[in-house]
Amino acid sequence: MKCPACQNELHEIVVAGIKVQACRGECGGLWFDRFQFKKIQALKPGIGQSLLTIERAEGVKIYRGAEHTCPACETTLLYRHFFSVDGNAEINQCSKCRGFWIDLAGLAKLQSLPTSQIKQAVEKYFETVINEKISGMRLLHDDMAQQAQILIWILQFLCPEDQWEG
Ligand SMILES: [Zn+2]
Ligand SMILES: [Zn+2]
Repeated sequence: MKCPACQNELHEIVVAGIKVQACRGECGGLWFDRFQFKKIQALKPGIGQSLLTIERAEGVKIYRGAEHTCPACETTLLYRHFFSVDGNAEINQCSKCRGFWIDLAGLAKLQSLPTSQIKQAVEKYFETVINEKISGMRLLHDDMAQQAQILIWILQFLCPEDQWEG
């Protein structure tokens, strides 16, 4: 399977039983197929946070303006749920197989902040992603609301655990 963003060969990484296809060593994007969704829902938040800090190469961001084809279906174009230049983030989904392509490079960068600043920075980052776009998805129609819920499970899986307390 090829990375939809940079055509690098994706590597399968298994974390807590969740199979993720990762663009390791290039853009750092992550592909979640629909068979992982139910399993992710049952996990404790934050278990997948190591996926945010997989090895990335600098300077592979030129693809951001382009449309990407689904790495699984290969012919379907992914549609974009969320895109932020400031946040260095992108969340796309295939309307055919329902897989999610997630690139949270901006979030990964926050991990290099001084420890005292990380928690707040990460909180703000997730708040932005969720409020800016995912909340809006919920309002559109039932199916979109369901996709938004799945996306939140995936984000919870990736986000450091203590961000979700309270
Ligand atoms: Zn890539
Ligand atoms: Zn697809």
